[in-house]
Amino acid sequence: MITISRFPGSALRFPKWRLILLVWLTCLGGGLAQKFDTVVIDAGHGGKDNGSKWYGVAEKTLTLDLAKRLKSVLEKKGVEVEMTRSTDVFVALEKRAEMANRSAKTIFVSLHFNAHRDRSIKGIETFYYPGSSEGRVLATYVQSELGNRIKTRNRGVRPSRLKVLRLTKGTAILVECGFISNRWECQRCASSWFRQVLAEEIAEGLMRYQ
Ligand code: ZN
Repeated sequence: MITISRFPGSALRFPKWRLILLVWLTCLGGGLAQKFDTVVIDAGHGGKDNGSKWYGVAEKTLTLDLAKRLKSVLEKKGVEVEMTRSTDVFVALEKRAEMANRSAKTIFVSLHFNAHRDRSIKGIETFYYPGSSEGRVLATYVQSELGNRIKTRNRGVRPSRLKVLRLTKGTAILVECGFISNRWECQRCASSWFRQVLAEEIAEGLMRYQ
C-alpha cells in the first residue's frame, strides 16, 4: 500500500482529528458571528387583500413575484429562506410575524409597493420599528443598495409603528419598492426586469448586514 501525500510528514504533525476540529470550530465561529441564518420574506397582502391597485396593477401580485425572486437570489448565496406566503392567499399579520419570531437568528423582510392620492409622488423607502437599532442598520444597508442602482427619489429610512414591524421581535424591515400610483413608477414596477433588480439589490443589502 502506498500513501501519497502532497505534504510529506504532515499527517504525523497534524492529525486528522485536529483538522476536523479546526474546520468545525471555524464553521461554528463563522455561524456565531453571523447576524442571521434565516430570512423570512414577507410578500405583502394576498388573497382578499389586494393592497393598492392602480392602472390595473395589484400590489399583492407584485410583492409575491418580488418575494419569489428575492428567495431565489438569496438561496443562490446559500441563505436559508422562508416565505410567509408563496401563493395568492390571505395571511394575517400575526401569522407572518410569528414565523419571524420562531428563532433569534431570523430576520424579517416585508415587501410592499406604495400608493398616494398625489400621483406625482414617487420613490423608494425602507421602514424599521422605532428604537430598533438593528432594524435601522438593516434598513440603511438595504436602502443604500436600492438607492445605488435604481434611479428614483431616495426617500431614505424611516421609523414606523406599522403593525407587522411591531409584532416582530427580532430585526425587521419593510421595504416600499415604489409608488404604483405614479404612472411612470407603476409601469416600471410592473416589469419583471425591474423586480429582478429590486430583488438583487435587496439581497445585496441583506448580505452586507450579515
Ligand atoms: Zn402594502
